[in-house]
Amino acid sequence: MPHYAATGIDLHVHTTASDGTLSPREVVNLALQLGLEALGITDHDSVAGIDEAQAAASSLGLLIIPGLELSIDTEGSEIHLLGYLLDHHYEPLTTTLKALREERLERVEEMVGILNQMGYPIRLTRVMELAGKGSAGRLHVARCLVEIGAVESVKEAFAKLLGREGPAYVPRYKLPVEGAIELINSSGGIPILAHPGLLEDDGLVTELCEQGIAGLEVYHPEHTKEQSTCYRELCERKGLLITGGSDYHGPGAKEGAHLGAKGINRSELARLYQSKGLELSISGQNY
Ligand SMILES: [Zn+2]
Ligand SMILES: [Zn+2]
Repeated sequence: MPHYAATGIDLHVHTTASDGTLSPREVVNLALQLGLEALGITDHDSVAGIDEAQAAASSLGLLIIPGLELSIDTEGSEIHLLGYLLDHHYEPLTTTLKALREERLERVEEMVGILNQMGYPIRLTRVMELAGKGSAGRLHVARCLVEIGAVESVKEAFAKLLGREGPAYVPRYKLPVEGAIELINSSGGIPILAHPGLLEDDGLVTELCEQGIAGLEVYHPEHTKEQSTCYRELCERKGLLITGGSDYHGPGAKEGAHLGAKGINRSELARLYQSKGLELSISGQNY
């Protein structure tokens, strides 16, 4: 058993449906071992892990909240938008996500091409193997670079080669912010700005709130205590919803981001449900 404290409701979890290293079933089993009561499954541009997680958790007392995490490239930064409680079988949603994943694949091919030209002998097939069933992305290219010994760590791969200023950086298809918010809304979901602290631009955070974001991910492993306090106060002032989660990617994937490391309480989760006219029920109790 892991020896860290886990919070009961973790709303930011990745699985092998994107770049996490545990399958939805394995994540559910770990959550049950840790005694968590609710998980938000939020894979990058994918809802493919939700059904498996729900099937694995059903009747075991763990609530699975359907979600996703969309990436949006803007001038100078990448915005991540979480969507919760959406209808993950809604066809326009699954069709758009498929197009985004295909584009993601073309981007990986392009990055591998650039790196090969630069003399790094990484293979596309290996990148795809590392991605497994999930959508291949920069993280898998980075892991490949670590594997061949070109860099010491994923972090170094981003700093030297794959980051926004790096020589092998390839920009992504621009799903506009409004389009992403609309996609989540039309799927019946709640659009939430993921880890606003990582944007390092509070002006942009305010702007996004005006564009129709319903809430902020206040609690995240990479937020300082001060940032969490500041975003919580902003949510309270503006009547925005509060979410939080560990951004879990598997054992040891990111320091401090173990399952359940961050999260929210039951009343915060109940507000999310109420905003959709739904009632939250945990362990037979209604909120
Ligand atoms: Zn993110
Ligand atoms: Zn994430």
